[in-house]
Amino acid sequence: MVSEISTLTHSTPIGEIFSAGHSCGIFEDDTILQDVLAFFSDRCTDSVIITRKSSPIGILTLKDLIRGLRSCDNLGLPVKEFMSSPLQTVATTLKVGDVLDTMQNGEYDKIVVIDKNSVVGVIDRRHLLALCYTQLTPMIRNESSMLHSLMELVGKGEKGLLKMATTDALTGIGNRRLFEEAFQVYQQNSSSGHALYLLLFDIDNFKSINDTFGHNVGDSVLKELTELITRSIRNTDIFVRWGGEEFAILQRYSDANMVMKIVEHIRKKIDEYSFETIVHVTCSFGITEVKPDENLESALERADKALYRAKKDGKNCIRIEK
Ligand code: GH3
Ligand code: MG
Ligand code: MG
Repeated sequence: MVSEISTLTHSTPIGEIFSAGHSCGIFEDDTILQDVLAFFSDRCTDSVIITRKSSPIGILTLKDLIRGLRSCDNLGLPVKEFMSSPLQTVATTLKVGDVLDTMQNGEYDKIVVIDKNSVVGVIDRRHLLALCYTQLTPMIRNESSMLHSLMELVGKGEKGLLKMATTDALTGIGNRRLFEEAFQVYQQNSSSGHALYLLLFDIDNFKSINDTFGHNVGDSVLKELTELITRSIRNTDIFVRWGGEEFAILQRYSDANMVMKIVEHIRKKIDEYSFETIVHVTCSFGITEVKPDENLESALERADKALYRAKKDGKNCIRIEK
């Protein structure tokens, strides 16, 4: 009776849901109940439309029919005695969404669709909702999978943004912001038997490297040095580019002697390393032990002082500030 159109939406004109040439039961109001009964059983329909001079005036539902059949005497009576009226009609051009609204507002279970006063079909609310629903379900499913993908993208984007905000663009290691955050985490989670050490180091005479070999060579020295240091420290050590040709490391060790040994190993490694473009680079180091509950600023001040001393004492060396 109703065609399965594939693109049914709330804005589809209601006339489009009826297949061309389909016929619903239409009877003039003086037809006797017995004749309509035959139609019901032949077509397995649940309603017919009653017209007067071809104009729809009511509807005879299965329920109305059963009520009529309570007495055999009724079989010879005209259907107008048993039909439900008045009849709610809508034009074929009315949109499905508006038809559903009309049904909802008037509490109509069925609605007759007419085209210039001639009946095109009848549809009940549940059937119309089911039609919309079967069309909407895949749409909702698609939308939700798209939404899911979007959420994933946003999630990745957030992670990406966070990574961007805490990463140094040139060397790919962490930046000052990452160091500040890591410092808070390390300070809040003390480790028994281990002290926290802050290390600042700076490439010696970097300006002259740039001046002599060019800024690009300077950049590749920064990258090569970063890779060298990354290979020389533990995963738990926080290594960042503090800015320019200055770097910082946050690390836990049992005592200062141990730290001095580790840092001396790093200093020597750089000193002995053959860089791709300019062969020899050295660094100066300043170390301090971070006191419990101390803020980053005051620890940095001491590490900076130690680094200044290392520079003053001839560079390519390590100084510690208690
Ligand atoms: P010192 O031994 O006392 O540390 O002297 P220095 O020449 O290393 O230090 P100075 O502060 O005089 O110069 C640092 C130079 O580092 C100046 C600046 O142009 C350069 N620089 C900072 N950031 C970058 C960078 O990203 N790439 C390159 N190629 N150079 C940089
Ligand atoms: Mg320098
Ligand atoms: Mg510097």
